[in-house]
Amino acid sequence: MTRTLELSLRDDFPGMKTPDGAPWHYLDTAATAQKPQTVIDAMTRALGSDYATVHRGVYARSADMTLRYEAARRRVAGFLGGQEDEIVFTRGATEAINLVAQCWGMTRLGEGDRIVLSTLEHHSNIVPWQMVAERTGAEIDVCPLTESGEIDLGALEAILTPRTRLVALAHVSNVLGSVLDAKRAAELAHSVGAKLLLDGCQAAPRIAVDVAEIGCDFYVFSAHKLYGPTGIGALWARAEILEDMPPYQGGGAMIDRVTFDRTTYAPPPQRFEAGTPAIAEAVALHAAIDYVEEIGLDRIHRREAELVARLRRELGKMNDVTLFGPAESAGIVSFAIDGVHPHDLGTILDEEGVAIRAGHHCAQPLMDHLGVTATARASFGLYSDDSDIDAMLAGIERTRRIFGSSNG
Ligand code: PMP
Repeated sequence: MTRTLELSLRDDFPGMKTPDGAPWHYLDTAATAQKPQTVIDAMTRALGSDYATVHRGVYARSADMTLRYEAARRRVAGFLGGQEDEIVFTRGATEAINLVAQCWGMTRLGEGDRIVLSTLEHHSNIVPWQMVAERTGAEIDVCPLTESGEIDLGALEAILTPRTRLVALAHVSNVLGSVLDAKRAAELAHSVGAKLLLDGCQAAPRIAVDVAEIGCDFYVFSAHKLYGPTGIGALWARAEILEDMPPYQGGGAMIDRVTFDRTTYAPPPQRFEAGTPAIAEAVALHAAIDYVEEIGLDRIHRREAELVARLRRELGKMNDVTLFGPAESAGIVSFAIDGVHPHDLGTILDEEGVAIRAGHHCAQPLMDHLGVTATARASFGLYSDDSDIDAMLAGIERTRRIFGSSNG
């Protein structure tokens, strides 16, 4: 069964209203998405009548919960186009990247090896690599952007050397919405024998991802941006790479046999999941993926692209507005208004029931590149519609009146 987008979907999201039932124009989905009732219900059931631990209990409810937890892993694998034992549950994308940095980067990289990042990366795809570089002697190269704000793959080709071991890039930028040609990036990385890690935080909720088709080596995302709960995300990595990686954290559930003389480890993915995992969150993530796939990522992407096109068109008519990023952005529009700090704009819009994000968006090197300290950012989700844009534009008009600025 397919469903129509827009208003009918909005009713699935209790978070899309204020506590007294008034409409709320939520334009901060890139930070975190609102949750559909099915996800909230799945989480409630998993924490309530279905609740038990996984992997350990001999009693039926624990065995059932183990099946649900592992079903969630299979669901994530299917969603990304990978195999079940290639999915490691993590606390989120940040932890997934840190896991790769610690377990792969620290053991594979050495003096003179090179890691390529891009100017538009989120801090969580920069800092873990700086930490690895500091400790291993590896060096970081930064791939520049095109004029319109896409990762410049021509420049990437020129930066790559036989010493490049890893290329780590955002599949979709959380500030500009630019979409990477991931398949081409994989070809380029592999042409010098490097691995490609894709930060899929903003891509997973917006475009259909198939890691096999892309040909990347690592893919990470956070459930909370995919209409699921906080506290869980996933790392997909090729089976042979995971197999070769040492454990991340030590503890229960990741071992094969423990003695004081010697401990042996479980195979992947258990080797990387020490401790009691985020059980209810995994079950709720499963429900979130079901919800998103029932609607269809192609439709979500098309819809968000229409909203981006309209918002950019409207903002583009205002001669005190600077628009950042390419026209073909996946659901995200960053901009600035002359003489109005993004925080002031965000505060005034909030009074109008419009929630946007203002700040550096954890992408300070990109802010430096754009020559600003902050941008205003509107980001859409599958529940967004034209009323959100109307309310935002009305709020911008009011902001101008308050600041005594004009658009002409
Ligand atoms: N990468 C990108 C592109 C992001 O947008 C975010 C979240 N803003 C992250 C990484 C980090 O995700 P999390 O905080 O959920 O670990």
